[in-house]
Amino acid sequence: MTFDSFIMVDWSARSQPSPKKPTKDAIYIGHDDKVPMYCRTRHNAMHVLYDLLDKAISAEHSVLLGFDFAFGYPNGFAETLTGKPDALAVWEWLAKHIEDDEKNQNNRFDIAAQINLKFIGDGPLWGCPANAEGPNLSQKKGTPDVQLAIKRQAEQVVRSAQPVWKLFTTGSVGSQTLLGLPRLQALRKRYGDKLQVWPLETGWNLGTAPITLVEIYPSMLTHKNPFPSLDYSWKSNSDIYDIEDAVQVRGMCEAFARLQKSGHLTDFFKAIPNLPNANRVVREEGWILGAGHSAEQNITPPPLKNDCFALPPGVHWTPVDDALNQLRQRVSVVTSVETIAVPAATGRVLSKDVHARRSNPPLPNSAVDGYGFAQSGTSDGPNIMPLIDGRAAAGVPYDGTVPTGHAVRILTGAVVPDGVDTVVLEEDVTLSDGKIAFHGPLKRGANTRMAGEDVEKDTIVLKAGRVLTGANLALLSATGVDRVDVRERLKVAVLSTGDELRTVGENASDSQIYDANRPMLISLVRQWGFEPVDIGRISDDPEKLRQAFDQAAQADVILTSGGASAGDEDHVSALLNETGSMSLWRIAVKPGRPLAMGMWKGTPVFGLPGNPVAAFTCALIFARPAMLGLAGAEWPAPVGFQVPAAFAKSKKPGRREYLRARLDDQGHAKVFKSEGSGRISGLSWADGFVEIEDQARDIKPGDMVRYIPFGSFGI
Ligand code: AMP
Ligand code: MG
Repeated sequence: MTFDSFIMVDWSARSQPSPKKPTKDAIYIGHDDKVPMYCRTRHNAMHVLYDLLDKAISAEHSVLLGFDFAFGYPNGFAETLTGKPDALAVWEWLAKHIEDDEKNQNNRFDIAAQINLKFIGDGPLWGCPANAEGPNLSQKKGTPDVQLAIKRQAEQVVRSAQPVWKLFTTGSVGSQTLLGLPRLQALRKRYGDKLQVWPLETGWNLGTAPITLVEIYPSMLTHKNPFPSLDYSWKSNSDIYDIEDAVQVRGMCEAFARLQKSGHLTDFFKAIPNLPNANRVVREEGWILGAGHSAEQNITPPPLKNDCFALPPGVHWTPVDDALNQLRQRVSVVTSVETIAVPAATGRVLSKDVHARRSNPPLPNSAVDGYGFAQSGTSDGPNIMPLIDGRAAAGVPYDGTVPTGHAVRILTGAVVPDGVDTVVLEEDVTLSDGKIAFHGPLKRGANTRMAGEDVEKDTIVLKAGRVLTGANLALLSATGVDRVDVRERLKVAVLSTGDELRTVGENASDSQIYDANRPMLISLVRQWGFEPVDIGRISDDPEKLRQAFDQAAQADVILTSGGASAGDEDHVSALLNETGSMSLWRIAVKPGRPLAMGMWKGTPVFGLPGNPVAAFTCALIFARPAMLGLAGAEWPAPVGFQVPAAFAKSKKPGRREYLRARLDDQGHAKVFKSEGSGRISGLSWADGFVEIEDQARDIKPGDMVRYIPFGSFGI
């Protein structure tokens, strides 16, 4: 079944109408690609939904309708409350007992107390404002019935989900369920057999009713698996997207639409792999659509592990090659796969080997303009041959067979006709009286191209991991490949840190400097085929930085500059340290300060040094290969070559050095006059690096040094 429409609801348990101006923790209804609707009360939300659903039904559309609260309770609850191990029995029970008026005033805490009474111990539900506390409901968690699990099975799969027992403060998911299920029951009543509740009614099979009601968990969007990553470009369409809830419902609609398009949505309606007692579990507890489905190969690979950047203890200075090897081993692809048209594939990374769909050339053809014949009909020395009527041109083949001893006019690219195996060049022929004369001997096959001599059908033309260039597109097109499976573009969030920074265009006092790193890094990211997300400049304030990181974590990787060392004002390091995933990579490289490597909410962070020269060098040498790895591309090895030095320099052993360099018109490498890492002019002057090995060196003019053009770094 195909859904024509996706309606996704972010629910709320407020006890008064939410403010006129859209605010968080209110009801938002996402509807396909439309700007989500903000509803101030549950009553109002239901009317909006009735309207949408009635219209869909009369248009004979089928709708996937999602709500973001639990459709059931942990195993055992339904039976004790209603006598039936059935989530829908709980819906009916709550619909009978919950009162919830047009202004959101409701009796949920009274009903919660009534429910608790039916259970041994303090009962499972807890959390309420002080004035609602009573003998059967308390503000704090009590001693619940040991038979009841804290979380449903689905919530054990989607780890960040909160337990349904908790009714008050952060998220108050429990209250959303108490006030939500009666409304869902109302939907069931109104739409009868036009609505099916998945998987409570339909089992693991996708229903055929016009409305399929499902439980969703919008935060799964940021888990990226099994959901595709989205580009969120629509966020600029409306101020409502300042509210995360609105972003999420719109994002959910888009994610499901994309999953349907890629054919993966139906997987979500199949049994959860490895779920014991699946039928019983879902009947009693419900299930979150998509939970437990890892679509690793197909949709999004698993995120990196939190300890991904840990370095072996006790190592003080890591040599460049070791650091690169570490990165190479730890980093794995994080982007999803999509199928796109070949002409649009420049800069994209192949996710699969590509096979030729036809040979190139598909048939033997002529490499020149000339005359074709059978070589067996020629002799050494002078040859004279009658020309037959007709000709063979590119795209307009000669249909008949050319008799031995006869020749046919043939043009470059024309299929070699039957009876012909050899072509003589037009310039080597004299033509008169319908005959041609030329000198033998001619090698059989001369001036022709064999079928498949370039590429044979079914052979691998390009391997997974290749970043596609124009030449690659030529090869794919020639071999009949019109669509390719590629990785989605890696999204790279870029931010700069420092109280001293201003964005160019802003006023800056003399004690402030303009943010040079961000435009530079964004430009590099774009040149590498990734999609930059500009998070802006962030002052040295832990709270602001935390917010910026949260926002940036929507991308696939976060690239920061500044504040990456271990000092008081090094807030990037400090923040990453909190996560326990942070590792300060002290790499034996110049220029370069430590790199702060870590994970923020599942997203890898590369904390580059603040100095523009060091930031640039570290970006090229370390961040680029790591990001290519995350993007699914083959590991790059920048090509350098030996050239005579146009400078003198002696260097101690220990650190590898990258000098900003430029080739002079003799092909000798000059280096920038100053090695100071604040000298941005040198970066802009250089067209490559001179790389000086880790060992000591005493370089005199004319000695050979390794020059790596910036082109080798893909810029
Ligand atoms: P930090 O790594 O934050 O200690 O910064 C090291 C040096 O780089 C300081 O002189 C900063 O002012 C400078 N710096 C940091 N970020 C930037 C930036 N985005 N653009 C230009 N200079 C910067
Ligand atoms: Mg700083």
